[in-house]
Amino acid sequence: MLSEAEARAAVLEKVAPLPKEEAPLIDSLGRFAARNSRAVRSLPAFDNSAMDGYAVQAASCQSGARLRVVGEQPAGADRGLSIGAGEAVRIFTGAPLPAGADAVIMQEDVTREGETIVANSGVEEGEFLRHRGSDLAEGQMILHAGEPITPGIVSLLASQGMATTEVHARPRVAIVSTGDELARAGDSPRPGQIFESNSMMLHALALAAGAEIQLVEHAPDDFDRLVEILRRGLTHDVLIVTGGVSVGDRDFVKAALRQLGVEIALWRVAIKPGKPFVFGRSDRCAVFGLPGNPVSTFVTFLKLVRPALRKMAGASEKHFGLRQVPAKLGCALENDGDRPHYFRGRLEQGFFSMSGRQESHALFGLSRANALLRVDPGVRLTMNASVAVELWD
Ligand code: AMP
Ligand code: MG
Repeated sequence: MLSEAEARAAVLEKVAPLPKEEAPLIDSLGRFAARNSRAVRSLPAFDNSAMDGYAVQAASCQSGARLRVVGEQPAGADRGLSIGAGEAVRIFTGAPLPAGADAVIMQEDVTREGETIVANSGVEEGEFLRHRGSDLAEGQMILHAGEPITPGIVSLLASQGMATTEVHARPRVAIVSTGDELARAGDSPRPGQIFESNSMMLHALALAAGAEIQLVEHAPDDFDRLVEILRRGLTHDVLIVTGGVSVGDRDFVKAALRQLGVEIALWRVAIKPGKPFVFGRSDRCAVFGLPGNPVSTFVTFLKLVRPALRKMAGASEKHFGLRQVPAKLGCALENDGDRPHYFRGRLEQGFFSMSGRQESHALFGLSRANALLRVDPGVRLTMNASVAVELWD
């Protein structure tokens, strides 16, 4: 049985970033930059006012001073105005600063009397000015290849006049659930059946990981039907199968994949929950067989599938894994098993506590959780111990 690190390395070695494409900015959200970008325009692009008020020379604008208003500069077209000592230009937020001005006095701090203002307080040189290039200099690096495109990044790219940006294609994913005991939403479960829920879970997790889900199907525990459905799944970049990968008599997934020419690269990983795990490849498709138990599906997806999806989506290595944050334990925890155990829990105000039952079928507890804590075999942690937990939201 492989360790988690060995399994992840083996998976990552067999997937590669997908081709690059130019995408409208809003469609690049959640994807990964395919090239470095530098600023083509400094921010601010010109000296401008941070307030509605009057552009002045600070030296001639002490409290009580009277200044003559010599013009008005709205935001938009630069009127090319200038001022000298004792003069002011009516100005608005974002408007270009007249030549000669070195400060803006807020309109709340002046009394206007016809073409004159009286300063009710002094201003200092530089006050309420936004200097060209003080936020971002032209030529400065603004986006590295492999970085995720966030709302902050799309707004920065838009500030550069860009309408599109180069990103990697989203992995196109097929999801296949398996099992005769599973009823679909809208069906009435027969006695002994439960509702199928893993395909919805995987759909949600894969979407959140930046994938595009193109096929979701359910296969009964019938070898030929399974082969037929998996064959369709293999026409995508990634096929994720859930259930049927263990050692039961009706666990046909591995055999069906082999029949379809998938080369199985690994089977079984030493984590709890999640031991049954298959990874293989056909020419064009990376195939993951995840355990059927819902919590095992969830954990193996996050630890072994998500990094591969991120790599395919063009993420740099530091973005493959989940975000780690320090926490204190809100309860004592122990792993008396022989595999690393991922406990599911809630991180709240710096404290991690288990949420609900920790068995691999316990979906309610998982639904309350927002963090994973890995505890190695034989490790006992006391309440208040310092740990690092991983977040998936
Ligand atoms: P299996 O790995 O197919 O033996 O399934 C292990 C356990 O997970 C069984 O209790 C199944 O009923 C359950 N299970 C498998 N697939 C799903 C699914 N798609 N949705 C919900 N439960 C499932
Ligand atoms: Mg099954």
